[in-house]
Amino acid sequence: MRRVIVCAAYAWALTFSVTPSDAQEREAVVLGGGYVMSLDPGVGDLRQGDILVRNGAIAEIAPRIEAPGVTRIDLGGKLVLPGLVDTHTHLWTSSMKGWFQNTPQTAYFDVKAHFGRHFTPEDVRIGTYYGAVETLASGVTTTVDFFHNNRGTDFFEANRQALLESGLRARLLFGAHDDMPADETVHLDRLGTLAAGWRDGRVTLGFGWRGPGTGSPQQLATGRTELTAVRALGLPIAVHASGKTVAPLAASGLLGPDVQIIHATGASPEELRVFEEAGASLALTPVTEQRVGYGVIALRDFEPMRRIGLGIDGPGLAGQADLFANMRLLALNEAGRSGDETAPSPRRVLELATRDAARSIGIDDEIGTLTPGKRADIIALDLQDLGMGPLPDGDPAALVVYSAQPAHVDFVMVDGEIRKRDGRLRKVDVPRLLDDVARSIRSVASRAGGWPPASD
Ligand SMILES: [Zn+2]
Repeated sequence: MRRVIVCAAYAWALTFSVTPSDAQEREAVVLGGGYVMSLDPGVGDLRQGDILVRNGAIAEIAPRIEAPGVTRIDLGGKLVLPGLVDTHTHLWTSSMKGWFQNTPQTAYFDVKAHFGRHFTPEDVRIGTYYGAVETLASGVTTTVDFFHNNRGTDFFEANRQALLESGLRARLLFGAHDDMPADETVHLDRLGTLAAGWRDGRVTLGFGWRGPGTGSPQQLATGRTELTAVRALGLPIAVHASGKTVAPLAASGLLGPDVQIIHATGASPEELRVFEEAGASLALTPVTEQRVGYGVIALRDFEPMRRIGLGIDGPGLAGQADLFANMRLLALNEAGRSGDETAPSPRRVLELATRDAARSIGIDDEIGTLTPGKRADIIALDLQDLGMGPLPDGDPAALVVYSAQPAHVDFVMVDGEIRKRDGRLRKVDVPRLLDDVARSIRSVASRAGGWPPASD
């Protein structure tokens, strides 16, 4: 057994810490001394608390846990939270950051369609891994990755491998691609084979539906065929809807509790009631919704819906894999739109990125709060950093919503495995990754005839 003793003269305290092997830490570890915000009403907040993690699950939360022989990681001076839950993203687009430049030729949907068809599976793998790593480093431990450049088995496999390699917990949605005709179904046999053989555990499978679009008979028929097959496989479904695609979705008769609706911007109260009565959930992504001009997003507009979670919608379009920015924007819009400085409660906003987000995608029995028995998806924010802290009297949720950003994420654990510690990612060669991203995106541009895109 090899143990390395490190004298760590960190910023706020002089401590000795023991660096155990990965295997020892996976077995059991105490995360000690942080301010624990459990987001579970039954557990509450602990101004100073310990969390015992055993075999990837939270075993105990208490003011002080004595566990002889178990490694103790000191999280004193840090705010400890459940890992953030991103209910909607498109990680493959991450390497196109900076390409969405708001001219008619460089707006998001055109750039995605134009360059997407020149991606190879390797470009998908690199883009997805890049986005997944940034997402993880930014305090998100679970994501729902809607893969809508699914041009064949190798493409989907590249996305899946990148997610597995990253360490994120993820639901990977088998989608279509921009050049697929409306009357053509996705490859349902392939999806069936994937579902039958799926054994990935931390990465699960779902379906990214194109939806009925503007409601043509062709689009509805394709959707009906796809959803019948997908429901026979028991897979969760997600679908985009905004503006003129909301009404056809509400009238489609194809909704159910297994459907997550993304955006629903422009929906009327009656349409939202149809969604709610069908049992559907809602993903709101305020940063990208506003970036593409869907409107100024406020929670009050979606009042009839109860299962709501926040999402990033792709680091490429959003600019960063930053769920804090989405919390902040939602909170600011709520006050701005209502003319009420006391709206909304920061705690409520934080719940939309943790507990409620997990509930909206149906996995709140596994994650979303710090609760004994749930999987150990845990993050810690550094309160001793510029722009953060000190801890306020009362609820620290306002500090998370209005002050925190990805740079403050000091510690990330997914399923009991430490992915970031002391502000540094583990098991990721970041300079090499950035080189790969630059090389990949240059080759995509070259195959597509250069930048900016010529009109198709
Ligand atoms: Zn999206």
